[in-house]
Amino acid sequence: MTTPNIAFIGAGNMAFSIIGGLVKQGVDPKKIWATNIDQSSLDKLEQEFQVNTTQDNHQAIAQADVVVLSVKPQIMKDVITDLSESLKAKNPLIISIAAGIKAETLQEWVGQPMAIVRCMPNTPALLQCGASGLYKTPEVSDAQAEAAEQLMNAVGITLWVKDEDGIDAVTAVSGSGPAYYFLFMEAMQQAGEALGLDSQTAKQLTLQTALGAAKMALESSDEPSELRRKVTSPGGTTEQAINTFQQGNLESLVKEAMKAASDRSKELS
Ligand code: NAD
Repeated sequence: MTTPNIAFIGAGNMAFSIIGGLVKQGVDPKKIWATNIDQSSLDKLEQEFQVNTTQDNHQAIAQADVVVLSVKPQIMKDVITDLSESLKAKNPLIISIAAGIKAETLQEWVGQPMAIVRCMPNTPALLQCGASGLYKTPEVSDAQAEAAEQLMNAVGITLWVKDEDGIDAVTAVSGSGPAYYFLFMEAMQQAGEALGLDSQTAKQLTLQTALGAAKMALESSDEPSELRRKVTSPGGTTEQAINTFQQGNLESLVKEAMKAASDRSKELS
């Protein structure tokens, strides 16, 4: 597939990572346009990746087959309303990475049905290690869906959800998920310190264990439940800890927490 011309409207942190991933993968930087109201952000992008930059959102859209909307959600309405005529004239695929704004709302702001992919990335995308959930409106062609997938694959893995409510579930799993692991890391580090380790030792052991466990789970053909059973000898130390987690209903607590995240995502959109 030939690379489409891509315009990033509001090229901040997330767009910087996606652009970096695309250029590393060999996408011609001249196919990429980045816009920002802040010239220093554009200078940085131009220096680092030699992409085209402009403060004029309309100019970038005029070149684009794919428009990535990457401004903050609270200013999205103003940005799209201003760009509505340019978007209608060019009719590109729109990829929105803004949290909590429905495809229908984006279409209303443009003023006509458009091919829209809603994408929920997560912060590890900043290290090209992200997980993104994608949803497409019926107007999106197969070639456009493939283009959206390739674009987000530049910063990690991508998975499609069939209906838009799936994005609320993605938000609860991978969107907010990094924070759950950070919380668990904090708790493990503190518990390690309470057991007598110095804070650096407790931290390094905790983080390397998280990395090692994630790598094992990703690379093994066993399910995580099987991997857990394999490292839990009857009567051993791990079993004592796992029993304690289960007595405290860890699984139902996780379910409750993620339901709360999904409900909040629904409320916000
Ligand atoms: P960011 O603030 O770094 O980037 C947005 C950029 O838009 C800023 O640099 C700002 O100067 C620029 N901007 C503001 N008004 C503009 C305008 N009128 N025209 C052009 N540019 C304008 O934000 P971010 O962290 O990159 O997040 C971008 C989007 O990604 C948000 O909608 C957010 O919901 C979504 N998102 C981010 C993450 C994340 O981990 N950072 C995760 C999931 C979703």
